[in-house]
Order: sequence, then structure tokens, then C-alpha cells
Amino acid sequence: MIPKVVLLPGDGIGVEVTEAAKRVLKYVTEKFNVEFELVEKLVGGASYDKFGTPLTDETLQACFDSDAVLLGAVGGYKWENLQHNLKPEAALLKLRKALGLFANLRPAKVYPQLIDSSSLKKEVVEGTDFVVFRELTGGIYFGEPRGYNKEKGWNTMVYTRFEIERIARLAFESAAKRKREIVSVDKANVLECSQLWREVVNDVSKDFPNVNLKHMYVDNAAMQIVRDPKQFDVILTSNLFGDILSDISGIITGSIGMLPSASLGSKYALYEPVHGSAPDIAGKDRANPIAAISSVAMMLEHSFEMNKPAELIYSAIKKVIADGYRTQDINNGDCKLVGTRVMTDKIIENIEKIYNEQALGVFTL
Ligand code: NAD
Repeated sequence: MIPKVVLLPGDGIGVEVTEAAKRVLKYVTEKFNVEFELVEKLVGGASYDKFGTPLTDETLQACFDSDAVLLGAVGGYKWENLQHNLKPEAALLKLRKALGLFANLRPAKVYPQLIDSSSLKKEVVEGTDFVVFRELTGGIYFGEPRGYNKEKGWNTMVYTRFEIERIARLAFESAAKRKREIVSVDKANVLECSQLWREVVNDVSKDFPNVNLKHMYVDNAAMQIVRDPKQFDVILTSNLFGDILSDISGIITGSIGMLPSASLGSKYALYEPVHGSAPDIAGKDRANPIAAISSVAMMLEHSFEMNKPAELIYSAIKKVIADGYRTQDINNGDCKLVGTRVMTDKIIENIEKIYNEQALGVFTL
């Protein structure tokens, strides 16, 4: 069976970085003689403009029929005043829920040559390498009741044992393969919901006696990530806290334009850069495509067990950075400033170069 990947470029720079990701995916799969079927659909504001909804049933069905989904980003000024369920971002929440993508993985790894782009001191950030496991389909973003009127706005934070247990298990499994250190982040001193979170995480930890578990309150975790990011290996947390902590983790590694993510469920998977549609730079060939291209590598690894092509992409990215090519967001002065397209060209050139050097031969699924 030919693997099917649905591409959802979305809005703003989502379109530009997905084009870059598509070029790399096509190049690398051709190189390894693997056929992929690529299906492209509208999502977010682009879908709203054409169909009056940010996510059509047809797009959703294409995702149900897929082996993996690759998304750019959604949103923009133009759609900011739409009612909640018509906003581009509503498509993302609906997709995550419908595909059962309960775990969002966001690696935060520092490239040595980009240390100067970090807002932190070199000695603090050097060697940072951790993953945030963010619960994605529960918590306050989905809890009912929700609403607002002129006097009051309200949302509900709710988690079930089942929801906490399945993300905790994934995070522990990952920690067991890494440095066997996990920090579970909550706000159990204030929120009952977090008390259950802590209880369930403790229960799951009994099945992983070799993994060292620590609990941390979210305010302290935010502080610790900027104070000493090297202390972390795996961070496990809920939807709201994970949203914030993974952005902090992103910025300390240099730029949000470098950060890929994977959202996994028991049946489906979606890969996307961490960043949004960046309307301030959209259409200007200024977006850093590395987050989207690294998302392709994560997809090859997690959904298709194509580790060698994934490694090739990571190596090509490292080489391009080492050669001094930079998009504006990671521009640290003495470098070759390039746009989205040239950065993608350089990555593809290096994939070719490294592939030839390694003479990897033919790789089959
Ligand atoms: P953003 O991530 O789009 O941009 C934040 C800042 O980072 C901007 O200055 C932007 O220029 C810069 N930036 C982001 N990605 C970059 C890249 N690849 N290369 C270079 N610079 C980059 O966040 P925002 O401004 O808060 O949101 C803009 C829109 O995106 C909003 O409509 C928001 O709702 C939406 N959004 C979507 C997603 C998603 O689709 N997953 C995620 C976050 C925000």
C-alpha cells in the first residue's frame, strides 16, 4: 500500500513552509525509492474563504483516510473577528479532537551554531535537549461549560484518569529510552484537576521503576526552563501549561522557526511546526522553513519508521546551519542571510551531498 500523506498548508507562512516541506519530502522519498501519495487540502482561513468553514467534512475525511497529516499553520488578522467556531484556529482544535491526537511532542534542542540566537547566556543554554509531552485533546481548551457574555467569561478545566494515563504512559516510554528523567508539571497546590493529574502520574510511574519522576508546579517550571534548561529530559504536562511551556522552550533554543512537533493518537498522526501563520512576515519569503522540514523528519521517523531518511534531513539541516546560512529570525550577524526558498534549496543540496557521501543505497519501507 502506498502511504498517503495529507498536506494542509493553511494560512500565512503556513503555505510557504509547507511548500518547502513538500519539496524536501518529495526529494527524499524519491532518493530512497519510496512512493508517497500526497493529497493537498485547504484548512483554516483559506478554507473559510472558499467554503465558509475552517474545516470541511471532505478535508476531515481525507485526514481519516491518511497515514499522516502535515500541517503548515492557520490564522491571520483577516479572520480575527469571526465567531469562535468559524475562526481558523477552530479547525486545529477540531482536527486534533477528531483524529484523537492526544499527545503533542515538541523537542527543544539547541544547535551549537545558533546558541547566540538564544535569549539566554551561552553557558546556560548549551547542551539543552529535552522533549515536552503536552496533552492535547483535554483540559481547559475543550472543557464544558464554556462561554462569555458582557459581564463574565468562563471555561472549564477537566481531566479524566484515562486521559492523563495515556499521555503519561507515552511520556514515560519515551523517558525510558532517553535519560530516564521525567518532570510532570501541574498546579496541584491550587487546582483539583491537577491533584488528579499528580495522582495518576504517580500510579503510572510504578510501571516504570527505572524512570526518575519529579513533580513541579507550572510557575516554577517556567522559571526553571529559563534558569537551567539542561536539567530537563522529558516534561509531561497538560494542554494549557504545555502550550505555554513549549513556546518558552522554543524561544530559548533560538527561534520558534526551528521547532517541529508531532501530535500522535492511537490511530492517526499530525506533524506541524510549532509556530503560527506569522502574518507579519507572510508572503515575503522570510519564513524559516526548518521547523516544517524537521516536522517531515519527525513524520518519517514516527509514522513510517524511515529513520535513515529522517536522519539525512536532520544532518542536512545541521550542515546548512554550520555553513552559516540563516533566515532573518536566526540571523546572528556574521552569516549568509537567505529567504525561505534558498534555505530549502540549500537543505536539499545537502541531502544530496550527504546521501552521496554515505552511499546509503536503496532503502525500502
Ligand atoms: P506566530 O508563531 O505566528 O508568530 C510569532 C512571531 O514569530 C512573529 O514575529 C513571527 O514573524 C515569528 N515567526 C513565527 N514563525 C516563524 C518562522 N517560521 N520564521 C521566522 N519567523 C517566524 O504567532 P502569533 O503571531 O501569536 O500568531 C499569528 C497567527 O497564527 C494567529 O492567528 C494565531 O492564532 C495563529 N497560530 C496558529 C498556530 C498553528 O497553526 N498551529 C500556532 C500559533 C498561532
